Amino acid sequence: MKILIVEDEKGISDFLKQGLEEEGYEIIVANDGELGLEYASSKKPDLILLDWMLPKIIGLEVCKAIRKTDLKTPIIFLTAKDTIQETIEGLKAGANDYIKKPFSFEELLERIKIHFRTLEDNKQLTLGTIIIDINTHQVFSDSKEVLLTHREFELLLYLIKNKGKVCTRTQIIEDVWNIHFEYDTGVIDVFMNSIRKKLNLSKDEDCIKTIRGVGYIANDIN
Ligand code: CA
Repeated sequence: MKILIVEDEKGISDFLKQGLEEEGYEIIVANDGELGLEYASSKKPDLILLDWMLPKIIGLEVCKAIRKTDLKTPIIFLTAKDTIQETIEGLKAGANDYIKKPFSFEELLERIKIHFRTLEDNKQLTLGTIIIDINTHQVFSDSKEVLLTHREFELLLYLIKNKGKVCTRTQIIEDVWNIHFEYDTGVIDVFMNSIRKKLNLSKDEDCIKTIRGVGYIANDIN
């Protein structure tokens, strides 16, 4: 597995490179945003560790630019930026995870492993007549492709992976949005409404049900 580290502080990139190489990962380092963006497509990494404050192009813009392409490479922000607003901004830009500096190497390693486990799942999941392809991030409903945004896809994937279990709003906001503090969970409904509209699902009888005041549950019924 190949990891691209986009980091301008040599002390940090050297430390990460050494630690991750010892764990058996192949490491590429880019020391500014421009090079990071170039390597994200030319070197085909399986995961990107992205600093925020970078010379030439800042990490946030690098992340947005990568998400505008068809690259689905997981991106983990590694940054000293730690206000709620900045965390949300990073996640909205399409990052998959967000780790604040200073961080523990052990925690970073575990988070990296989680992303690779997801990649290794390499299969299609179904919910009734809905099929989702984890590799290509494609979603099909009655054999027709439905275009979901990155976050809509992540939310649908989460519900399908937890088929038959009630997913509470807190669990969803923590696991899909990666927000671990008091947060307005109304955002989930906005995304759910959009998913339902795109997949032609009705509010209560379909394969994704609202559990009033609690959350959502997915089931293989149509
Ligand atoms: Ca930096």
